[in-house]
Amino acid sequence: DRAGVPLEITGLTKKYARSTDRYAVRDLSFRVEKGQVLGLLGPNGAGKTTTLRMLMGLIRPDEGEIRVFGHAIRPGAPVLSRVGAFVEGAGFLPHLSGRENLELYWRATGRPAGDARMEEALEIAGLGDALARAVRTYSQGMRQRLAIAQAMLGLPDLLILDEPTNGLDPPQIREMRDVMIRYAAGGRTVIVSSHLLSEVEQSCTHLVVMDRGQLVQAGPVAEITGEGDTLLVTTDGE
Ligand code: ATP
Repeated sequence: DRAGVPLEITGLTKKYARSTDRYAVRDLSFRVEKGQVLGLLGPNGAGKTTTLRMLMGLIRPDEGEIRVFGHAIRPGAPVLSRVGAFVEGAGFLPHLSGRENLELYWRATGRPAGDARMEEALEIAGLGDALARAVRTYSQGMRQRLAIAQAMLGLPDLLILDEPTNGLDPPQIREMRDVMIRYAAGGRTVIVSSHLLSEVEQSCTHLVVMDRGQLVQAGPVAEITGEGDTLLVTTDGE
């Protein structure tokens, strides 16, 4: 039953310029099941962001197919309402509190005030008392965590986090790990990219390792071989 499969991609291929022989993503296929936290790993330039942007419907693949809950992804596809995404650089109004910013966003996306989903999402995000403080008092890491909370607000069935641990300090990275585990515990699915295995392995159930646009390894986290972060080090034989 494909309708129950959060993500299935087949033969995904993307080049940014026709003239180049360099593929950003090449013949990538994998599947993510409900309740999984999938880590998309790879060094800089591996093609993680390009892959995530394609599955958010932001850019079109040259070849291949993306199905989210059984529906083909294209820009504006209705099924994208079941997808929430964190990408770096969300803007907030500095003089408003974290909560006020999220409430503004919530209403701007046409959803009713006082919706229980928003409170549940804030609970999972675990920002606590900081939500009452003005965003201008936030550290960079706190702003990032607020942007991640924003992506979770409608409790999307599929949550995509592009390098959420970038710029966080070790305690914040540990908190982020718990946030992802709590999020998926509700039967929801998370895809998280990182260039460091150590930052995501404890929160992920499954991994897809990419290098130079291609899949290198994929499977349950316990079956992925490698020591520390070494599986991500590229030995460039060219
Ligand atoms: P990082 O960890 O640095 O974000 P990544 O794994 O997310 O890396 P991508 O950003 O998807 O990798 O990049 C894959 C390849 O595509 C790289 O060679 C990159 O230089 C190239 N690329 C990415 N975005 C563009 C763009 N807008 N125009 C041209 N080339 C691009």
